Amino acid sequence: MMVTLKSISRAPMTPKANSRLSGFYDLTIQERLARVREQVGLTDDEIRILGEGMGLSLDRAGAMVENAVGLYALPLGIATNFVVNGRDVLVPMAIEEPSVIAGASLAARLGRQSGGFTAEADDPIMIGQIQLVDLQDPYAAIEAVLASKERLMALANALDPVLVDLGGGARGIQARILSTAKGPMLIVHLLVDVRDAMGANAVNTACERLAPELAALTGGTPYLRILSNLADHRLAHARVAIPEEVLAFEAFTGAQVAEGIELAWAFAAADPYRAATNNKGIMNGVDAVVLATGNDWRAVEAGAHAYAARSGQYTSLSTWRRDGAGMLVGDLELPLALGTVGGATRVHPTAQVALKIMGVRSAGELAQVVASVGLAQNLAALRALATEGIQKGHMALHARQVAMAAGALGPDIDRIAEAMIEGHTIRIDVARSMLNQ
Ligand code: NAD
Repeated sequence: MMVTLKSISRAPMTPKANSRLSGFYDLTIQERLARVREQVGLTDDEIRILGEGMGLSLDRAGAMVENAVGLYALPLGIATNFVVNGRDVLVPMAIEEPSVIAGASLAARLGRQSGGFTAEADDPIMIGQIQLVDLQDPYAAIEAVLASKERLMALANALDPVLVDLGGGARGIQARILSTAKGPMLIVHLLVDVRDAMGANAVNTACERLAPELAALTGGTPYLRILSNLADHRLAHARVAIPEEVLAFEAFTGAQVAEGIELAWAFAAADPYRAATNNKGIMNGVDAVVLATGNDWRAVEAGAHAYAARSGQYTSLSTWRRDGAGMLVGDLELPLALGTVGGATRVHPTAQVALKIMGVRSAGELAQVVASVGLAQNLAALRALATEGIQKGHMALHARQVAMAAGALGPDIDRIAEAMIEGHTIRIDVARSMLNQ
């Protein structure tokens, strides 16, 4: 589906980082922190938040969720090499899976050779749904709702003057009759521009306020009043075009790799079994940044997969094609309901540092980076799958995890991992017996 995309902000962003941190992989964690610090100007406090104690205090955790008993830590890494809309970006990623950050950095390095990623984000319009049943005359109900559109939007706006002052607020009211297993229902959509928020609270509050008004207008009975996670007015789009020769890899020519990637796309486009795994690879990158910035990754997941099934058949979120002039062109489009304010984004100290590292100043800029990371992740996976397979690259990191799971500590982790790779058997029982020896 082609959509017209508008960028939220074209203003220059700060700070100016160089994301091409050569040799970053080989540094110690302290050295990496120092490199990131010099690039984006982190304070001592921000370094402490990243380096120790996970940023989040127990007290704060207790204020965030019910029945808190502790904290749950995940590794936070930095994907290097990203250029998004001409700007170098260091990308913080929170993820437990090996190879993801390396894959994103590798694909971003391939992309940067031809200028990096171009990305756009729609205006941040979210949909709130209000369900009404027991209607005497459903079609008269639609007319009554639409005739009161302006008044309903004004009621919604009165609830959130902060949002309206920032240029956001209600943007439209839509109504339709839905046939369901329990008879016809009137479904009203309230469209709200939520600016730099994810928007769930703002939209839900407005839906609850409008429900009794809609009941009075239509004679129906309101039930559900909540946002839709299929945020298809709030799409983000990323594109990368890579000269095929840059893709050459071991015995594979660039053209062979590009052909393999195009065939992989065709497979995913036609087959939901493959599309699910293709999209999982995209979400490896998307979720890791969403999580690092304190955003709601369940909301993003729900929206992405619903969008992937919008035609009635679940399909690939990305497309890859050879343009016939020596370039491989990748596109990714998905709904991204992300905030730089609200939810945990301003409450979780690590999320604040993550946003600072990226240098994004609006939810739209964040969505542009996240979509670019999703596309890079997809490229890394397809390049490996279309050539040597993913296991070779994955195994070294996987072997380290297996060694740790077997109880290896310190230098034993690498020693046992290397021995398992050499012996072509990476299993926990093998790691245990090596450890015992
Ligand atoms: P929020 O209510 O914490 O913050 C949004 C509010 O911040 C706005 O309404 C506005 O008044 C104010 N604000 C200040 N500066 C702003 C700016 N620059 N742009 C926009 N608003 C600004 O957060 P939210 O985004 O409405 O809600 C997000 C939370 O809701 C997440 O924690 C999410 O997990 C949760 N949630 C999700 C769902 C769902 O996805 N189905 C449902 C319920 C709740």
